[in-house]
Amino acid sequence: MARKLAAGNWKMNGTQAALTEAQALTGMFPAPSVEILLCPPTTLVYAMAEALRGTAIHTGGQDCHAHANGAHTGDTSAELLADAGATHVILGHSERRADHGETDAIVRAKTQAAVAAGLVAIVCVGETLEQREAGETLDVVRAQLQGSLPDTIEADKIVIAYEPVWAIGTGKVPTLDQIGEVHADMRKALAGRFGDDAKMLPLLYGGSVKPTNAAEIFAVSDVDGALVGGASLKADDFSGIISALQ
Ligand code: PGA
Repeated sequence: MARKLAAGNWKMNGTQAALTEAQALTGMFPAPSVEILLCPPTTLVYAMAEALRGTAIHTGGQDCHAHANGAHTGDTSAELLADAGATHVILGHSERRADHGETDAIVRAKTQAAVAAGLVAIVCVGETLEQREAGETLDVVRAQLQGSLPDTIEADKIVIAYEPVWAIGTGKVPTLDQIGEVHADMRKALAGRFGDDAKMLPLLYGGSVKPTNAAEIFAVSDVDGALVGGASLKADDFSGIISALQ
């Protein structure tokens, strides 16, 4: 069975004052039965990891460079994130793919770097609205999985997040059947490639997950959690999603 994970992606939001939201969550979930992760902007990773030290809530980054160090002005490596206290990193988010031209090959190199640094890599895939309307969803997701993952994996170091681009930040969510179809197909593709390890990989759904729709999404087979944007910024909202997963 895959482990369950509720992951929050704060994107480019959150000053030091927002650390109180992370601290509030620790009080609500002193001993959770699922994994909880918050991925703040890079500027807050160290402070959040310190604030959450000794609690059950993990801290992660939102991207890393494919190299461990070197002349890469403005970039942050997986090694540096780990040194700052991160345990996870989101890779290949559609906003990175769109804003920074990240290809599957780049995401794959970053995934290898993250795992080498001891981080859990949350690898994001998902189709655009045009691709869904053209009936290409399963092909697109399979191709992204194929290209973004290394040839060999450690099952406890990889998480997959299916995030339809058109569902992110829009309030639009695929039907439960559509989510189930993609997740089942991802599990099948991963099993074909990685054998039994595929059963251990958490498959997260992401895109407009809210406390009000989380429970029905988590009831879909092969959905092992969520990658949450907007609704992870406030402890009151994110706690409802975590509770639905527990
Ligand atoms: P959203 O974002 O929950 O605000 O739709 C999800 C994501 O981009 O990870």
